[in-house]
Amino acid sequence: MIIVMKNDAKEEEIRAMVDELSKNGMKVQINNGVQCTVLGVLGDTHLLNENTLSRRSGVEKVMRVQEPYKKSNRKFHPEDTVIDVAGMKIGGGTFSVIAGPCSVESKEQIESVAKSVLKSGACIMRGGAYKPRTSPYDFQGLEKQGLELLLVARRATGLPIVSEIISPKHVEMFEMVVDIIQIGARNMQNFDLLKEVGKTNKPILLKRGLSSTIQEWLMSAEYIMSNGNENVILCERGIRTFETMTRNTLDLSSVPVVKQISHLPVMVDPSHATGISSLVAPLSLAAIAAGADGLLIEVHNDPACALCDGPQSLTPDEFEDLMGKIRPMVSVMGKHLNQLGEN
Ligand code: PEP
Ligand code: MN
Repeated sequence: MIIVMKNDAKEEEIRAMVDELSKNGMKVQINNGVQCTVLGVLGDTHLLNENTLSRRSGVEKVMRVQEPYKKSNRKFHPEDTVIDVAGMKIGGGTFSVIAGPCSVESKEQIESVAKSVLKSGACIMRGGAYKPRTSPYDFQGLEKQGLELLLVARRATGLPIVSEIISPKHVEMFEMVVDIIQIGARNMQNFDLLKEVGKTNKPILLKRGLSSTIQEWLMSAEYIMSNGNENVILCERGIRTFETMTRNTLDLSSVPVVKQISHLPVMVDPSHATGISSLVAPLSLAAIAAGADGLLIEVHNDPACALCDGPQSLTPDEFEDLMGKIRPMVSVMGKHLNQLGEN
């Protein structure tokens, strides 16, 4: 249920309403917007009578929320959520480019890619240390050593780090090392993992599942948020369809759909969506036009020899070229391109 307070509602009226709801066993989320205060009410709201509540002083209107996603619902939180990553603002009119290799392979590799993507204009670096590979015979990542190498690259460049977690038992370690914890497509519905990262206050990059609907994706965000962590960034990375020309089908319509129904920032990963490096640039530009708040792009110093996802990885030169196209597109959309060290 949502209670919209009048724009001239008094502090005492808001407090009285929150107290009454809390006494009835409800959890109340208070959103102080520019126009008015919106109270998001969670719990067994069937026990509440909306006609009675709407007659309390200071109340503009009372609405029941039919959707199962509550905390991620824009009705609960009308303004865009802005997430702080190492002092940088993600969402709410900013645009962020995350770049780096699929996997951390060596100190030389991660340092050289980190330095080159920073120079080209990325504001966050990515690198997988624990890889959820389809085949157990494929490279599984450098694991703990991979995370340590990401820290070395962070020290060398200052770039915040995002890396994928695959097990609830690694949460504490990830909390100490990374700036954003990535939940990959394959783990989007690993509910134990979602609950555990929900108990931290690290920003979470939640990728859409391979065959998940938008509602299922938002319900996964809800698992994280209902456990206390509201710092969720969604990432569209393509879904499975009958099409075989691309690795996945980039569902760009999910970007404006999610922006309408949710307040969470949405990024797009054109690398995993297409699986083909020559398609990364056009779809990056399309994602900006669709209203995305950022991009996640795989960049490798030597894609032909990459241990994972070489065919979709850009070379540092290709990434530099793409950044030259991203900049004007971001400004056409009226957004600010985040750069490291500007805050
Ligand atoms: C990745 O980002 O390296 C990755 C494995 O992506 P996804 O979970 O989208 O397949
Ligand atoms: Mn990859």
